[in-house]
Amino acid sequence: MNTGEPLLTLTDVECEYKLNGGGRFRAVNGVSLELGESEVLGLVGESGCGKSTLAKLICGLEKTSEGSIEYQGNQVKPLGFKKRSAAMMGIQMVFQNPYASLNPRRKIRAQIEDALALDPSGRWNVEALLDAVDLPANAADRYPHAFSGGQRQRVAIARALAAGPKVLIGDEPIASLDAFLQSRIAKLMRDLAIESGASMIFISHDLSVVREIADRVAVMEAGKIVESGPTETIWNTPAHPYTKRLLGAIPIVDGKGVIPGV
Ligand code: ADP
Repeated sequence: MNTGEPLLTLTDVECEYKLNGGGRFRAVNGVSLELGESEVLGLVGESGCGKSTLAKLICGLEKTSEGSIEYQGNQVKPLGFKKRSAAMMGIQMVFQNPYASLNPRRKIRAQIEDALALDPSGRWNVEALLDAVDLPANAADRYPHAFSGGQRQRVAIARALAAGPKVLIGDEPIASLDAFLQSRIAKLMRDLAIESGASMIFISHDLSVVREIADRVAVMEAGKIVESGPTETIWNTPAHPYTKRLLGAIPIVDGKGVIPGV
């Protein structure tokens, strides 16, 4: 149900890392943004601009130095992924490396069943989830290493959906995949998130793939959101020089950006 209230509200969020030499580095510097119900937000920016750190802050994997993050009206607390409260399990993440989402020593069925136990709706079962991500039912009885990179990422998506998330975060989930798979997996994530009634934050350095799936785009540079707006507005009429630079780096064929895998 769309209540009109944002699911997630970030207000002036900062994150500083302590450096070995004793100094501090501000990886996220005053970020404010909202995520609505059933919305797909693309978070783009070059490597090192703070996208992963922002994702970890939202999941409670990293601690804010300043500012607040509210999920469904509750403050997100940095408790680590496993110790999070039941409410916070509504935020699920798919990482660039699927082994960060999956335990290499457990069969897929057990890992998906653990996640299913977090979702009281009973909407999914193991076979239905595997089918939704285009994997055969017998995939459940294998270990993660038995799959190709693209298949493993499908398993990670199935595991994340099993928990019944309201917010699905993909942190460069397609970056390690072959170009022809990137667009397919991105669209699969988007479709499944929306069908499940979730919103999604899709993090990528590649604006051309984000354009394919996001309703809205936020552009991050050096820890700050420098521009955000509807995807087509950002794509067609970027206002910030950094966004223009990101767009300028995308190869152009026949006046259109080249979308890998399309
Ligand atoms: P992105 O996801 O956009 O590539 P990150 O959030 O991973 O960016 O990193 C942002 C900046 O913070 C980078 O300069 C990175 O080197 C630095 N950084 C990330 N994690 C740590 C850490 N644990 N300690 C110190 N610096 C870090």
